[in-house]
Amino acid sequence: MDYSITGLFEAFSEAPRPNFNEITTHAIDECTECKELSRSFEEYSVVDVPDTLLEYHGNDITLFSSKAFRYYLPSFIKYAIEVPDSNAHENILYNLSPDDPNSDFWSGRCDQFNSYEKEALISYLKYRLSICDVTEVNCIDSGIKYWNQK
Ligand SMILES: [Zn+2]
Repeated sequence: MDYSITGLFEAFSEAPRPNFNEITTHAIDECTECKELSRSFEEYSVVDVPDTLLEYHGNDITLFSSKAFRYYLPSFIKYAIEVPDSNAHENILYNLSPDDPNSDFWSGRCDQFNSYEKEALISYLKYRLSICDVTEVNCIDSGIKYWNQK
């Protein structure tokens, strides 16, 4: 099974780019972690975030605001396809298989995707399922079910 990265970026072409103050939800003068994340991503559009940043911030996806999550998700997916066992990969799975979908956090993040984007996320999860380790099957399955119902 193949996955088209070009198709992924096309599907997300309408996701609005966050400005510096919209990248995380914590006040950036109060949280050094979020400040660093915002500074790192500020200058990059979704198609040109360097791999070193995607590797380094692979664990930080939940720190992104909903807007930045939607916008930068394709960068992390691209990286997780190139480096299948990266932190980004595990974190994407966690972020696409909400444990408590009706909570404020998850509903705010997951309700914003349009039909092209949802389709691309489902294709990614199906691709992942075709190459994954047995320990990930349940998590990926629940993610596919979740996005199919959205
Ligand atoms: Zn923070």
